[in-house]
Amino acid sequence: MTDKTYCNGCGKFHAEVEAMIAMTDSIFVCNECVGLLHNIAQKKEREDPVRARRREIKLEETQPNSRRPFGPARRRKPSPRLD
Ligand SMILES: [Zn+2]
Repeated sequence: MTDKTYCNGCGKFHAEVEAMIAMTDSIFVCNECVGLLHNIAQKKEREDPVRARRREIKLEETQPNSRRPFGPARRRKPSPRLD
């Protein structure tokens, strides 16, 4: 990212905005446009609770996998014979 990088939303250069977010290697969006998009998304969710719920589920699914990695199988000591 350089000062010549510009926002694909409003066309402002990197130097003109607070922050620039890379959507892909060649598509950038400034913090102002991201804020705008965020507002629109929130408004849409208020109008459409089903969509909001779907987003919540999606966020839950993207939680890091908390499963423990497979460790070496623990061997139990052979129990003493009773006979
Ligand atoms: Zn912008």
